Amino acid sequence: PVLRVALMGLGGYASRVAESIQSCKRVKITGLISGTPEKLQTWRKKYNVPESSCYNYQNFDNIKSNKDIDVVYVITPNALHHNHTIRAARAGKHVICEKPLAISAKEGKEMVEACKKAGVKLLVGYRMHFEPTTLEVIRMRSNGEFGSIKFFQGLCGFRIGDPAQWRLNKALAGGGSMMDIGIYALNGSRYMVGEEPVWVTAQETKTDPVKFKAGVDETIQFQLGFKSGATASCLSTYNMNYLDKFFLNGEKGFAEMQPSIGYGPIKGRTHKGAVDAPIVVHQTVQMDEMAAIILDGKKPVVAVDGEEGLKDLRIIEAIYQAAASGKKIML
Ligand code: NAD
Repeated sequence: PVLRVALMGLGGYASRVAESIQSCKRVKITGLISGTPEKLQTWRKKYNVPESSCYNYQNFDNIKSNKDIDVVYVITPNALHHNHTIRAARAGKHVICEKPLAISAKEGKEMVEACKKAGVKLLVGYRMHFEPTTLEVIRMRSNGEFGSIKFFQGLCGFRIGDPAQWRLNKALAGGGSMMDIGIYALNGSRYMVGEEPVWVTAQETKTDPVKFKAGVDETIQFQLGFKSGATASCLSTYNMNYLDKFFLNGEKGFAEMQPSIGYGPIKGRTHKGAVDAPIVVHQTVQMDEMAAIILDGKKPVVAVDGEEGLKDLRIIEAIYQAAASGKKIML
């Protein structure tokens, strides 16, 4: 069977997802949700979606009676994920929600619970969890090829433009670079080291308090400590272009990825040489794999469920707390 997806929030990333789905083997766009009638018209024609499967934010709860939709893919600004996910779950649909899962751990937990209660699956749009170079480095690490892991470095950022955009509005974004791009370094440190952190420390730097208002971080450095004694040192920023690098070192060897989380191609190198893995369109692979998770119960190598999204939110809150207090926060 094919996974029939309704896309919600027809913005920049949804456009990329929609195009990528065209090459999927097991995914089809069968519904659209948008607050802009003109967008619904253009998208509907482009992707061949019947008018009866187009909704707006007022009436999308009616999706409940739509037999042609299995899952709602929530691609709206961060602060809206909570409401949109819970409503989709209550309508009996599985949910794929973009990262970050929500703007707080409390909201994330409510989303996980709502989906559980409704008996639907909740997945987070962590596309790197399906990216072949990433998976090859994870395989090598699990196989002991780097030895016991001691250190990870994750550097993620870009220079953000338009000061009026939702990403720079605390109410809609829930924070700044950390919520949006730093989450990749955090999430990456967990799947690269292969452990959960037990403490965090963090420092914030702000060079432009006009563009980056209170609660919207421009740059955050954070450190994580793991039970094994491994540590991670990460940087999240909205003020440097082309910052996209992972570095992992163990007792026996290293892996380096640059770019590491951009749309690709991802490039990997280890002490053994270049990482040989296919170059793919991330979202095409992600969506086909998510079809297998939802329809066949397939277990991914790295979890992408709501709990996984919630783990990152809990650590992000600790990072913000550590940056504000200057204290080491135990997790
Ligand atoms: P965007 O601004 O391009 O699109 C957001 C869409 O939401 C727009 O169509 C907008 O009209 C709609 N929207 C609905 N209600 C809104 C409201 N009240 N205020 C503002 N917009 C509203 O943003 P985007 O880059 O597509 O990001 C959307 C989500 O996707 C974010 O959560 C982001 O973190 C995530 N994202 C993920 C990736 C990835 O690689 N996984 C990449 C980019 C964005």
